[in-house]
Amino acid sequence: MTIDWTSDFRMLIGGEMVAGEASFDVVNPATAKVFAQAPDAGEADLDRAVASAARAYPGWRDTPIADRRATLEAAAKLLFQNAEAIAPLFTMEQGRSLEAAKMETMGMSAWFKATARRDLPFEVVHEDARTRCEVHRVPLGVVGAIVPWNSPLLLLGWKLAPALLAGNTIVVKPSPFTPLCTLKLGELLSPLFPQGVINILSGGDALGPMMTRHPGIAKISFTGSTATGKRVMAGAADTLKKVTLELGGNDPAIVLADADLDKVAPALFMSAFINTAQVCIATKRLYIHDAIYDDLRDRLHAIAKATNVGNGLEPGTVLGPLQNAAQKARSQSLIASAREAGYPVLQGDAPQCDGFFVPVTLIDNPADDSRVVVEEAFGPVLPLLRFTDLDEVIARANATDYGLGATIWTSDIAAAQAIAARIEAGSVWINTPGMPAPYAPFTGHKQSGIGSENGQDGLLEFTQPKSIHIPKAA
Ligand code: NAD
Repeated sequence: MTIDWTSDFRMLIGGEMVAGEASFDVVNPATAKVFAQAPDAGEADLDRAVASAARAYPGWRDTPIADRRATLEAAAKLLFQNAEAIAPLFTMEQGRSLEAAKMETMGMSAWFKATARRDLPFEVVHEDARTRCEVHRVPLGVVGAIVPWNSPLLLLGWKLAPALLAGNTIVVKPSPFTPLCTLKLGELLSPLFPQGVINILSGGDALGPMMTRHPGIAKISFTGSTATGKRVMAGAADTLKKVTLELGGNDPAIVLADADLDKVAPALFMSAFINTAQVCIATKRLYIHDAIYDDLRDRLHAIAKATNVGNGLEPGTVLGPLQNAAQKARSQSLIASAREAGYPVLQGDAPQCDGFFVPVTLIDNPADDSRVVVEEAFGPVLPLLRFTDLDEVIARANATDYGLGATIWTSDIAAAQAIAARIEAGSVWINTPGMPAPYAPFTGHKQSGIGSENGQDGLLEFTQPKSIHIPKAA
């Protein structure tokens, strides 16, 4: 099938590509100019999508898991084959470089492939002379997926693949900032699935709340900010929907005095600034031992100055713009607050144009209660923080309502493991930027989330246990 990746963006409802009655603008963050229109789904579209998912549900649920697995494998292949073709559209709506855009679709493909290897065996939890009890994991029904703009395809893959493998049908809502690639994926993947198994709706601010309240949706799997996650949970309460919430983070990195800075400086730079720092598990507070603080700060500043920030479509671009005007304003406000407080501000370069560019910015040792330390920047503004005592830095790293991820950098792996055990976060990485893996549960502690994605835990979130008590004789 040939797909036009540049225009004609339609929703997927009940196996058909649907234009929708209204539309909204999609802006290229590198130029701040509107470059496409996406359908704006209303309540009637949502009702139709949920009804089609409900009709498709019994058939998909009763399809043998081996067949669902084979369909996911076929989807993984299609995604892989189209990763290059989709990249320019991804860059135009999200901002990152073409190479990074391609990696996103390949990542989604890898997640489909890895999820397809999983199984949902039943467990015998009791057996005696008279009875046996089996616990089966059964799907939930129609589930809703709500996705943010920072990584619109990979994060959708974390939901779509396990939801479908478990036998659910799904209604997907991308962010209004980045709806286009997701809509096109609907066109790409729909021929593989029975009609109504996957439905994709794009829409404005009203659509998410409509989904969380919809009585036909059994569960919402949400990725986004902590503030919105709380609204999703409140919206889901009335119909007692299940929720998985993957929310914000303010991840600490702790660099011990023995760290090998030749290796650590470039890796830490990417840990903080990849995707222009619009990553939930980006390093957002960098604690550096006093003995190496000045050296690492200067190295990071040198890398910032040498890093090419620009339009992701241009060759050589390493970091693109922020994805939207509000994110740019947020980063600028954090930088202004640091300047006002008198903290040294060290920056790289960024294009001066209408696009949503902000230079890579390091704030030199601000106070622990400053805005730039306390708030999740989700933009290229990183506080560097001095420490001398290990117990003290662990307490400072944990002094946040967030608990998504953390990284530890040292030549002493045993020391890093001991620190990891004391960090309050769902994932801890040692000597590497945070890299979620399809085999490991990814989960937010504290206000970074509820439930897990990825690994067997992530698959089980799209199921519920069903205990069957079987007599040995009739
Ligand atoms: P956001 O919370 O503004 O939006 C996320 C999604 O929710 C979008 O699709 C949006 O349209 C929708 N939405 C908005 N209001 C809603 C409502 N009331 N009910 C239902 N849906 C609603 O988040 P964002 O700005 O798109 O993404 C950035 C945030 O996401 C950051 O805080 C980041 O840390 C977090 N994030 C977390 C993870 C994770 O896995 N934990 C991954 C990526 C991003």
